[in-house]
Amino acid sequence: MMPRPVELVLAVLVAILGGALLVLWPIQAPPPAPDAPVMDEDPLMEPEPEPEPEPEPEPEPEPEGPLLDDGLDPVAFLPPGDLAPDSGVGQALQINYAPQMRFPLEAGQAYANSQVYGHGGYLGPGGGQCDAENYSYAWRDNFCETRGYATPLCPAGTGHQGQDIRPASCEDARHWAVAAGDGVITSVGSYSVRLMSPEGVRYTYLHLDRDSLLIAPGDEVVRGQRLGLVSNEFGGNATTIHLHFEIRMAVETGQGLQNTHVPPYLALVESYQRLLTEPESEHG
Ligand SMILES: [Zn+2]
Repeated sequence: MMPRPVELVLAVLVAILGGALLVLWPIQAPPPAPDAPVMDEDPLMEPEPEPEPEPEPEPEPEPEGPLLDDGLDPVAFLPPGDLAPDSGVGQALQINYAPQMRFPLEAGQAYANSQVYGHGGYLGPGGGQCDAENYSYAWRDNFCETRGYATPLCPAGTGHQGQDIRPASCEDARHWAVAAGDGVITSVGSYSVRLMSPEGVRYTYLHLDRDSLLIAPGDEVVRGQRLGLVSNEFGGNATTIHLHFEIRMAVETGQGLQNTHVPPYLALVESYQRLLTEPESEHG
């Protein structure tokens, strides 16, 4: 009779062998696949067979409408409140204050970014306003950019009150600004147009080309209607070619209900996405 430890070792060995056999059995003796390729044993007999062609990938569906030109970067948006470096403290709340709004330019492409802190701006990194970086994605919020204007929804209490948007190309008086909704033109200044919606939301457009304006105070307009051409006019001075766009409405500011400027960034982002993806719904 064997001593007990040897018995144990043998039992374990048998168990391991049995287990290994169970695991390895199907691998050691795979059933022949019915459609397995027959390997050519003699490399001199036949030329290599042509490899099976890869299946053609499904073609991407063509986008509809006047959308992305070839060669442009894909649309991209930095989050609300993410201002240009050293240009102020942004408001990062994810609130779309005008969810039904139509994008205020008739057509893309458009580039929301800072005209002051961008190329060609007086606090920018140099270069001209037509620098390609100004006319590329990603979009950047500049509602709370450092300015002296009362903007209670900005962390500093002051800010820029609106968003700067460059049109598709760096050309003066070429691209149409349009009504963000149905409403009445309540004022036309030397470089400003104001549009009041029936719900009391006021849209402000700055720097439209005065000679191109198609509206006058008191006019009723419909969503998507042309107002004037985006320009660099600034009341006798020149700024860069851009639309400065504001939304003003009654909101709770922390000091009660106030009629004040609200961050337009998310309303612009979402209306721009609709413009690019469902242009038919944005014609007004
Ligand atoms: Zn501005």
